[in-house]
Amino acid sequence: MKFGIDVGGTTVKIGVVEANRIIDKYEIPTIKETLFEDISSFLKDYISKNSIQNIEGIGFGLPGNVVNNYIYNLPNIGIKDIDLTKEMDKHFPGVLVIAQNDANVAALGEMLYHNEYKNACMITLGTGVGCGIVLNGKVLEGVHGAAGEVGHMCIAGEYNFSCACGLKGCLETVASATGVVRLAKYHYKEYETKLASEFTAKDVFDLAKQKDPLCLFVVDKVAYYIAKCISILGITVDVDVYYIGGGVSKAGDILIDAIKKHYKTLALFAVKNVKIEQATLLNDAGMLGAAGLIIKDEQ
Ligand SMILES: [Zn+2]
Repeated sequence: MKFGIDVGGTTVKIGVVEANRIIDKYEIPTIKETLFEDISSFLKDYISKNSIQNIEGIGFGLPGNVVNNYIYNLPNIGIKDIDLTKEMDKHFPGVLVIAQNDANVAALGEMLYHNEYKNACMITLGTGVGCGIVLNGKVLEGVHGAAGEVGHMCIAGEYNFSCACGLKGCLETVASATGVVRLAKYHYKEYETKLASEFTAKDVFDLAKQKDPLCLFVVDKVAYYIAKCISILGITVDVDVYYIGGGVSKAGDILIDAIKKHYKTLALFAVKNVKIEQATLLNDAGMLGAAGLIIKDEQ
């Protein structure tokens, strides 16, 4: 039995996982000052109430920069510089603890849930754009914890919008929820549209489904940039499947089909036939993936 802990800005999701399935799940509030004490005391209670004898390990998905279980920065929570191995060892001596960035963990969760492949990427289109890369069943962390930060791949230089990271032309500036709105505002006067003066990314996708000219144009552009990103990932990590997740992915087929269309024209022949699918696991991916970090007999 493993625990998969998905730490978010407001709540911590705690999953009890067996054989890559969540058998029990809970939520506790995220309190910056006592975060790891709160999680540990919840786990201790659960373990004692259920008379659990053997825990394989505790996996964490954390919203920020973490390398080798050292938490450099969780900006949305306001936590910095914590050695998670030491912190958890106070409460669970000898128990295997592994932490990873939440985008990586979500990718692993989605892959484990489908149980079809061992090599996958998940691109999360939300407030920002993130990506987790799983190779041979293991999350690719990178030396600086930056592997898979495709949101800051400079592939929309045509617009050169400024990104929160300090660079310009990042994928995130056109493919996040705010990016979709930004693109629609940029082209607002060039096409007919039923969009009001204030709107959301969801409005853009909803109207595109009704063949609104501006929204169709924007969805196609967004899909083009995501496809371009996947075509670059394709010849870099060469995985079986790309899952598209996050709030923007709820647009569904209109987005996924447009990504596939552009991908065919952008991808190298060797990787043309990969799968591109909408992620299905939503809120549980983090817990499942966090538990999936715990692998016995690690080499
Ligand atoms: Zn950026």
